[in-house]
Amino acid sequence: MNAKIVVIKGDGIGPETVSEAMRALAVIGKRFGHTFQLQEYEAGGCAIAHSGSCLPDDTLAACLVADCVLFGAVGGPKWDSLPQHLVPERALLTMRDKMGLYANLRPIKMFPQLYHASPLLPQVAAQGIDLMLVRELTGGIYFGSHDIVLRGGQSVASDLMSYSESEIERIARTAFEMAKKRHGRVVSVDKSDVLSCSRLWKEVVHRIARDEYPSIQLTDMLADSIAMQLMRNPWQFDVVLTENMLGDVLSGEACMLTGSIGMIPSASLGDGTVGIYEPIHGSAPDIAGQNIANPIGAILSIAMMLRSSFGLLAEAEAIEAGVNRVLDDGYRTVDIMSAGCVPVSCSKMGELIAGAILSSQMYRKIARTLPQPSVQGSKKSKKAADFF
Ligand code: NAD
Repeated sequence: MNAKIVVIKGDGIGPETVSEAMRALAVIGKRFGHTFQLQEYEAGGCAIAHSGSCLPDDTLAACLVADCVLFGAVGGPKWDSLPQHLVPERALLTMRDKMGLYANLRPIKMFPQLYHASPLLPQVAAQGIDLMLVRELTGGIYFGSHDIVLRGGQSVASDLMSYSESEIERIARTAFEMAKKRHGRVVSVDKSDVLSCSRLWKEVVHRIARDEYPSIQLTDMLADSIAMQLMRNPWQFDVVLTENMLGDVLSGEACMLTGSIGMIPSASLGDGTVGIYEPIHGSAPDIAGQNIANPIGAILSIAMMLRSSFGLLAEAEAIEAGVNRVLDDGYRTVDIMSAGCVPVSCSKMGELIAGAILSSQMYRKIARTLPQPSVQGSKKSKKAADFF
């Protein structure tokens, strides 16, 4: 395998977590004999500072010819007061749009070692969480016109939400295909009690299910209802299909149930194999520059990349097994820390996982330099393949 990968670290903790993902990719290359050509480009606030644009032309051009993109996070308070079309977050929206990446896949999975870190009641957390959130990514309110106008002596804001049948059809197929590979169940989220977009959404999703996926069990759920059900019984969900904004909000809730937003990877895909892979966290300005961010979501994004863009299944499992081993042995970044475990920095967590991917000998050598955990992860993992 010889792949060309564009790396965009972005702002805040983006450079810290993506550096650890790059470390994991480098050891995969070494262990399995692959060449990953990494080319770094800028986007987001750092790009505004250097070139005046959140998505410089050379960055977009490189993304359009790359095999895939590894992305960190963009944005921060420094740029919040810019006009909406100039803010760093626009970079990502434009990349997704120009690259035709309409499906965002977020595997919301709880590692059993981290039950204690979940805000759920222990008896709920103990049942685990294993759902795939499939979020539409290039339509809806984020891509409609946004206005603030003066009317009747005051400012009035509006954001247009629209969805076409074809936009709904293709994301519905993504969700149904995903369900075929999992447990055959899809919950489609809407606000059809109020929104026309949701009524069309529901109609189209049901038509695709009836005509093309009769064996998949499809259930509708209102957005407010699933927000509650996620807290009550997240184990019930297999594939959750949502439009753009509802998916953004619900995935924030769902990921926190697994212990930390820093644990969750994502893939943004279109019709081909090219994708953007990124942890779902933002730039976390409150902890940026302190080397305490959790890099596991970024590292697991590499596993998603190897599996989805390159079909490298053993390599993806090697990453997941490395993460499991480090968690089993009780090493934790502060966001998932608990009694008896050993706190490690972002870079040390990355080093441990990379060592575990490369060889047991290398892992033990790194672990020997750290204090020994007095209590290992509350519940050990099964084999890595059972988790992803
Ligand atoms: P955030 O995800 O950056 O942070 C939310 C909270 O989670 C913070 O307390 C942060 O410290 C913590 N956190 C996040 N990632 C973590 C990690 N890896 N390890 C440990 N703790 C972690 O969300 P926010 O605070 O709402 O947004 C901050 C900035 O990021 C904003 O400018 C926002 O627009 C931007 N943002 C960017 C993206 C993206 O680039 N894809 C996504 C979301 C938010």
